[in-house]
Amino acid sequence: MSTRIEIPEANLQNISIFSTEPSDELIEEIKQHVRLTSSPHTWRGHSHTKPDKGAFVVYVEEFDVPAPDSVPRVAPCPCCNPHHPQYKNKGKIAWFPHESVIRLIGPQCFAAINSGGHDAAIIDLRKRQKRRDEVATIALHAPGIDGLIAAIDEALPIAEDLDNFMREINRVIENELRLQFWREVKDGNLTTSETRRVPFQKADGTGGEREEEFRVPFAQIVGHTMIDRSGQISANKLKLIRSGLGVFVARLREAIVPDALGDAEREKIADAFPKGRAAVIELLAEMADRQRFLTSGAIETLRRWGQHQNAPIRFSIERKKSEVILSAPDRSRITLAVHSVPIGDSATKSIPEVPEIRTVFPQS
Ligand SMILES: [Zn+2]
Repeated sequence: MSTRIEIPEANLQNISIFSTEPSDELIEEIKQHVRLTSSPHTWRGHSHTKPDKGAFVVYVEEFDVPAPDSVPRVAPCPCCNPHHPQYKNKGKIAWFPHESVIRLIGPQCFAAINSGGHDAAIIDLRKRQKRRDEVATIALHAPGIDGLIAAIDEALPIAEDLDNFMREINRVIENELRLQFWREVKDGNLTTSETRRVPFQKADGTGGEREEEFRVPFAQIVGHTMIDRSGQISANKLKLIRSGLGVFVARLREAIVPDALGDAEREKIADAFPKGRAAVIELLAEMADRQRFLTSGAIETLRRWGQHQNAPIRFSIERKKSEVILSAPDRSRITLAVHSVPIGDSATKSIPEVPEIRTVFPQS
């Protein structure tokens, strides 16, 4: 048997000072007390008294009592086990408005006192927690949304020029020059073929040699997503995200605080802010990757490959200031088809960074 837990004198009677719903600050005070002391029963506002049968309860939040993994129960519960360890995780901050008291109790204990009331309070608690999480998410992201929108605005002309270039160079490669780049440049690994003589064993057991063709690595193309069909068209996606964020920011300004939003609206905004930010980060990274095709020497590497006698396809590619010139022998192999793909002025501008977000509320 574990030793008896002594409850402070002050907590043994009702502390009837909580006539209004516990505020976020009060909830935080309780959770911090439990975190620091592992003793919910010593919190200044806790009433260590048994609720009446059928009492009405509101669960405002849950808490875990810190204890080693080997200890299954630590805190005493005024409902059922007032002087011995009864629970550890998912304890409830239980507010009893009719008595104006708060009891810190075990996770399921109150079900024995008022089963229906317990079930209803749990459903209500999940809603409260969801609402609190959403408000916290919005509060976390809202200060950075203007910066995020500014980054999108700065990135848009770059995205448009990169998209235009990607569309046009792939059109020229596939439709005009009829080269199957997407097959040969996959993952950016360029290869040439080589024929080698290799030994092999004949059916009669004697040795011989025969010619085999090998693919040998030639070079790695940086920014290959620009030409291997794996690049994304990003400008339209950025525009969509921007317009969605704009609507939500305006709505948030109207409502002044996230708490004043309707349930459906709050849920949508709490979802859209982090998702929008993550999507923009991903799109900008993808743009930066495609941009490296124009800035890294990839075009010169491609040119050397296209001229190599053992390359799988023959062509020429060259950058001239604001255009890329491509050519390849046509099917008759007599004339040379030459095509120019313009590079927009913004295509190689530096891609903006999405501002950091900082946590301003303590994480529990
Ligand atoms: Zn209990």
